Amino acid sequence: MVLLSGPNLSGNEWKYVKECIDTEWVSSVGSYVNLFEKMLAERAGTNYAVATSSGTTALHTSLHILGVGHNDYVIVPNLTFIASLNSIKYTGADPVLMDVDANTWQMDLDLLEDFLEKECYIEGEHLFHTKDKRRIPAIMPVHVLGNMCNMDRLSDLCQRFHLIMLEDSTESLGSRFKGKHSGSFGLMGCFSFNGNKLITTGGGGMIVTDDESLAQRSKHITTQAKSDRLEYIHDEIGFNYRLTNVAAAIGVGQMEQLDLFLDAKQRMKKFYFEHLGNVGDIEFQGVEEHVDPNWWLFTIKTNKMRQVLTALNNEKLQARPFWVPMNRLNMFVDDIYYNYEDISGQVYSKCVSIPCSTNITEEQMNRVVQIIRSQY
Ligand SMILES: *Cc1c(COP(=O)(O)O)cnc(C)c1O
Repeated sequence: MVLLSGPNLSGNEWKYVKECIDTEWVSSVGSYVNLFEKMLAERAGTNYAVATSSGTTALHTSLHILGVGHNDYVIVPNLTFIASLNSIKYTGADPVLMDVDANTWQMDLDLLEDFLEKECYIEGEHLFHTKDKRRIPAIMPVHVLGNMCNMDRLSDLCQRFHLIMLEDSTESLGSRFKGKHSGSFGLMGCFSFNGNKLITTGGGGMIVTDDESLAQRSKHITTQAKSDRLEYIHDEIGFNYRLTNVAAAIGVGQMEQLDLFLDAKQRMKKFYFEHLGNVGDIEFQGVEEHVDPNWWLFTIKTNKMRQVLTALNNEKLQARPFWVPMNRLNMFVDDIYYNYEDISGQVYSKCVSIPCSTNITEEQMNRVVQIIRSQY
């Protein structure tokens, strides 16, 4: 089986994990946790980074610390992985599902601006939804597949409408807008190191921020809000969301190879663009000016999506459809879905992700291309 997006553990991972076990520093404190955090902050260009047990818990922690709670709304793209939505629901808030741009598959900023101007009002320093007067404290852009929207424009809208930006950067390690790394635009940003992400720790996540107090609060709340080194004194309801030193050791080994992985993704992208660019009605994800995507999960758009999906999987070349749009899932059918013409649904019905691991060989990509070509 050629995996869609599998791990690539060919560096120092084993050596570092062995060291954790040999020294018995296996749990949630240790030098690898600190080093991994430092490497992420450096890469993202933020002052601080706090490791967490997953991308989902990073998002939940961030929303919680930003004061998002019961009866609030958080604006989020309708086309994302379920974890973005789950983290919002954990806080007691509800999502406002925003449709996506037909070209980039990121949140549609024209639509967002329309929503903010026509459906919301500002009172004091806060944004409210006109219809039910509920507060909209935050927006969670998701850099879908490692692509990004025009972050200048999004930042301007956030400022104009008093929206806190929390970036779901879980798919966009290495992606940049005007040279600035994803995750560093919002007040907080979150990364994921799940097995299928660009780098993996088995499972894990990271919060990045420039704000010292938010970083300290993140560390505190993810460590059961422990407030004394000796006594079991805790000063609020906390979470056990820490990353282990063993996982962080894998992460350090992975971060050492990040630039190699990003190069591999560029080669993969170039290969598929060259060999699939003129096949049938196949289209690729559009990229806005100033965006440098990491090309995390390579996805093509075609009317023959179902045929391509089946043909590849029959040949043990793993392919997956896009996420089912959030507004179609049972838990969210009653939530607001703001759209002109359900672009999410159209993108979903035509998109298929194809094998693109960082260690994919040219021979394997050739097989993928052959199978896809034979469908047209
Ligand atoms: C992977 C992912 C997450 C969650 O990360 P986990 O580490 O799996 O919890 C959140 N949002 C998006 C968009 C993702 O792709």
